[in-house]
Amino acid sequence: MTNMTAFCGLNCSQCPQYIATQNDDDTARAEASKMIREAYGLDIKPKEINCDGCHTENGRLLGYCDSCKVRACGMEKGVENCAYCKDQCDTLRQFHTFSPTAKTAFEQLLKKL
Ligand code: SF4
Ligand code: SF4
Repeated sequence: MTNMTAFCGLNCSQCPQYIATQNDDDTARAEASKMIREAYGLDIKPKEINCDGCHTENGRLLGYCDSCKVRACGMEKGVENCAYCKDQCDTLRQFHTFSPTAKTAFEQLLKKL
């Protein structure tokens, strides 16, 4: 499976939705659906669990990622991820407020530059 770091810092390669999709594993899709319901109160059916990762050009994206402004901007700028961007912006900071996991992962990326 390809190792994929998202623009925001999250690691797609460790995401249950991405792993279930790439392995085409319906049991893992069902587990991911349950996890999303319990963690976020969202009803995403197992058959809807399909994601090809943050850097996909024409592939599938799930839920929030499908409309993510951080991703859209990173794709437009052509950066490997936002750690490589010289204009780190409020859109990214706001997302990191929403996702402390992404913030922590992003800070690790910055340290590796
Ligand atoms: S689409 Fe947005 S929230 Fe989802 S992994 Fe990519 S940058 Fe992060
Ligand atoms: S401006 Fe830079 S830090 Fe902000 S979303 Fe775009 S690429 Fe990421």
